[in-house]
Amino acid sequence: MYIGAIEAGGTKMVCAVADEQLRIIAQTEIPTTTPEETLARLFGFFDHYSLKALGVGSFGPIGIDPKKDDYGYILETPKVGWTNIDFLGSLKKRYAIPFAWTTDVNAAAYGELKQGAAEGKSSCIYLTVGTGIGAGVVLDGNIFQGRAHPEMGHIRVKRHPDDYYEGTCPYHKDCLEGLAAGPSLEARTGIKGQDLAQDAPVWEMQAYYIAQALVTYTLTLAPEKIILGGGVMNQDHLLDKIRQQFVEQMAGYMESPEVSEYIVRWGLPNKSGIIGSLLLGKEATA
Ligand code: ADP
Ligand code: ZN
Repeated sequence: MYIGAIEAGGTKMVCAVADEQLRIIAQTEIPTTTPEETLARLFGFFDHYSLKALGVGSFGPIGIDPKKDDYGYILETPKVGWTNIDFLGSLKKRYAIPFAWTTDVNAAAYGELKQGAAEGKSSCIYLTVGTGIGAGVVLDGNIFQGRAHPEMGHIRVKRHPDDYYEGTCPYHKDCLEGLAAGPSLEARTGIKGQDLAQDAPVWEMQAYYIAQALVTYTLTLAPEKIILGGGVMNQDHLLDKIRQQFVEQMAGYMESPEVSEYIVRWGLPNKSGIIGSLLLGKEATA
């Protein structure tokens, strides 16, 4: 018997099958096209295995309240064709097994807590800075959510005094995601993040905004670790700029761990989400 996992992204779905010790025995990537086509290809992969459970970490927003009709659905998403799709329900129809269902970033936070940069801790936040900004939270060993899952990428931030850019968020314009996700770098400079020089002034702004978010998360949730992932964080110099800004903005208020231990890169590069989904899938069998 095997455990299956899906890290469902807007671009691709990473699928894995592992044995009960969670050693991955098969893995594939399926492009996220239409729901029908994508589901057919997911079935084409998982049908080969006798699964005991499946863990799914999905792009969102998603319905997570089992008491509501939209449980298991992908809700209003910019990904064309996927709004109000009963993703979990379609999987459940195919496989009558226990499922775990959460957001991609929650799954990544869980993976990092159990086997990655926060191993041995009982709380962490995983923040991804990519096409969008999203965070997953684990507190006291459990994924943290209320009526819905948190949307910590859309918090308000104080503007950098030199920043006149209006922001990319279709809802709020200049929320954190609007001012600091990958597309904002390109919108300000005309150059994609990956091609920008290390000394471009925009990185200071970027660090200023991300650090503000980390200060807010620290003051509200006091996690043991904050783990940073996502395409934009491939800029190695950015981590130090964020740490410096964080220390400056905290201004000595509230004791927090040594910053180089506290704000870190992912411990499971490109794998936090799929490993977290496997772990959650396995727990769903218990
Ligand atoms: P997604 O968020 O779609 O899953 P990524 O995490 O790779 O994908 O994020 C893509 C965004 O990150 C794009 O805006 C891209 O320009 C930016 N990006 C990718 N690589 C880098 C890099 N090395 N430096 C800065 N920005 C990058
Ligand atoms: Zn927003």
